[in-house]
Amino acid sequence: MSFESLGLMPELLRAVREQGYETPTPVQAQAIPHLIAGRDLMAGAQTGTGKTAAFTLPLLHRLAPHANPSTSPARHPIRALVLTPTRELAMQVEESVRTYGKYLPLRSTTIFGGVNINPQTAALRRGAEILVATPGRLLDHHQQGHLHFGTLEILVLDEADRMLDMGFLPDIRRILALLPPQRQSILCSATFDGEIRKLASSLLRDPISVDVAPRNATAQGVRQVVLPVDAGRKRALLSHLIKARPMEQVLVFTRTKHGASRLADQLVKDGIAAAAIHGDKSQPQRIKALEDFKSGAITTLVATDIAARGLDIDQLPHVVNYELPFVPEDYVHRIGRTGRAGAEGEAMSLVCVDEHKLLKDIEGLLKRPITQLQIPGFEPDPTVKAEPLLKGRAGQGGRPRRAGAPTTTRGEHSRAPRRTAKS
Ligand code: AMP
Repeated sequence: MSFESLGLMPELLRAVREQGYETPTPVQAQAIPHLIAGRDLMAGAQTGTGKTAAFTLPLLHRLAPHANPSTSPARHPIRALVLTPTRELAMQVEESVRTYGKYLPLRSTTIFGGVNINPQTAALRRGAEILVATPGRLLDHHQQGHLHFGTLEILVLDEADRMLDMGFLPDIRRILALLPPQRQSILCSATFDGEIRKLASSLLRDPISVDVAPRNATAQGVRQVVLPVDAGRKRALLSHLIKARPMEQVLVFTRTKHGASRLADQLVKDGIAAAAIHGDKSQPQRIKALEDFKSGAITTLVATDIAARGLDIDQLPHVVNYELPFVPEDYVHRIGRTGRAGAEGEAMSLVCVDEHKLLKDIEGLLKRPITQLQIPGFEPDPTVKAEPLLKGRAGQGGRPRRAGAPTTTRGEHSRAPRRTAKS
């Protein structure tokens, strides 16, 4: 199977060739011909499967015939809308639109919250056929009269499951009500549970269904390993691993924003070039951290699940679960950051006695145990008893503080967090 045989126009094939892609990934091979033909699509595909190109290439292909090289804003009405759960994903999808669309006179722009609205308004005034947006800020622009959807032809909901997790369903419904009913609709989601199914049936007309990511699948080519260690020695073990290998690019997951910041600070003190990325950081800080990580200026990026969602970093070699997630599916999402599109990757989980139940749940989802590897010098103290991990206000969190005990007794655990849905 080649890209040429999918029916894409020469301008797109040229851009794909320049990216060095030789063959379409399964989701691309299955989805692209139907999308070119104008069908609706329900794609069960998570990050790492090549899903972004699977919807971006046919989207560009369909918009291209009426693309206009004129600079007049009137010649660049909104024709496609891609909704994403996070700013990072919006930026990365738009980067893909630009990459694959570089030989076409189509314009694109991003709309997301947490940054000044004025440059976005100016970009909308200049005109863009393709909008990549998070739901909340998109609605703000609409309410202020900055955009109209009367000319919309294509709608994409990317990572729809995560948008629902983040509480965006009401916003999505409001947006759907603004769009012309005659359009092509595409829904991407890693999972297809009840709510997503309902949304899909209200949104899609006679869709093609492509499923390349069953719920319990983990990325092929990812070596998974559990490293047993006491909670209080996790940081020392992580620094040891990063330095001893050495790891040149590693994404580290914590459960909370506070935990991410604290760990990044501690790693810096250990002499490791690290930064944290999470929802409390300003947009410029997040962009800088991601750029530094991509360029190699920092080796270690510490992230929460929500912030990391949608981070697209080519062929990330290492993912470390500094703390296991409370939701087993998040483990699958996390390790999906590595070993993508055929590359080899390694996912290491630092697991203390308190997390054995979480590990069991993850292994239950995977339907197999994960190999354990004991790093000499970091053997857990067998006399330490498990303590319950406190689920925070929104059902996530760290270990409870014992009355009178300092937070850092064994203390690398994070405090109960809040899961915020920022757009
Ligand atoms: P995605 O699943 O869209 O996040 O894409 C995952 C990664 O795979 C991105 O870094 C893409 O650049 C890369 N990719 C997408 N399609 C292909 C392909 N056909 N061959 C090789 N790499 C690809």
